[in-house]
Amino acid sequence: MTMLPCDPADPLCCTECAQAVTDYLEGVIDDAGRARFDAHLAACEPCRNFVAQMRTTRDVTRCLCEGDCVDDTTREALVHLFRSWKESA
Ligand SMILES: [Zn+2]
Repeated sequence: MTMLPCDPADPLCCTECAQAVTDYLEGVIDDAGRARFDAHLAACEPCRNFVAQMRTTRDVTRCLCEGDCVDDTTREALVHLFRSWKESA
């Protein structure tokens, strides 16, 4: 995988955004990275949607790990989410 140069003056590209989303959601991204991430999200709707999906997935999987809320609605949401990823890949 080729990492693009991290020049703070450059806007974050979609690829970097996708690579950094986990760090961003977990809050382990550094301040400069977060600022660039936020700036990119403000300008890029596909990435906003992607981050929203990732956040939902994280919340759902965390919920699953806790064990007691695997109801039909959750399962359906997961299936729908994974299917939409597959279609957009
Ligand atoms: Zn983007």
